Amino acid sequence: MGTQSTPAGFRQISRYDNLFQERVHDAYRARRKPLEPTVCPQCKAVFHEGRWQWLETPAGAHQDLCPACHRTQDHYPAGFLTLEGPFFLAHREEIIHIARNVEERERPEHPLNRIMEIEEKDGATLITTTDIHLARGIGEAVHNAYQGDLEFHYNPQEYLLRVHWTR
Ligand SMILES: [Zn+2]
Repeated sequence: MGTQSTPAGFRQISRYDNLFQERVHDAYRARRKPLEPTVCPQCKAVFHEGRWQWLETPAGAHQDLCPACHRTQDHYPAGFLTLEGPFFLAHREEIIHIARNVEERERPEHPLNRIMEIEEKDGATLITTTDIHLARGIGEAVHNAYQGDLEFHYNPQEYLLRVHWTR
């Protein structure tokens, strides 16, 4: 049973809903297609063959912020993961470590899926991400490791995913 109220524009989704198709709604990716090749001056990701990848910077590459750096610059996350509860507080370090590991595993293949910030908020920890899939992946990894209650609320219009884990 859900313990969180559903904010306007969001719907609760199950762990098994496929969000992959929703990528098209990400305004930061849909904004405009970069010329090829383009290098991001912040993180050095390269737009090549239709996607952002970790490559050597090609000679004569155009320069433009990648969607992940653009979101970070705008302080505009796509994923919000809240972790809380007495068990969480007692194991915070291990759990944050899991979050970092999930990011590191995704990084080679998904250069745009990044943790933006990890902040303390009223006894809970909020992890923000540049992509909805990473917030979801971290929530699932924490749940797999420690069980607890995991909920997802998705706002397709805004391309926002709120993940709440408590134990
Ligand atoms: Zn970048």
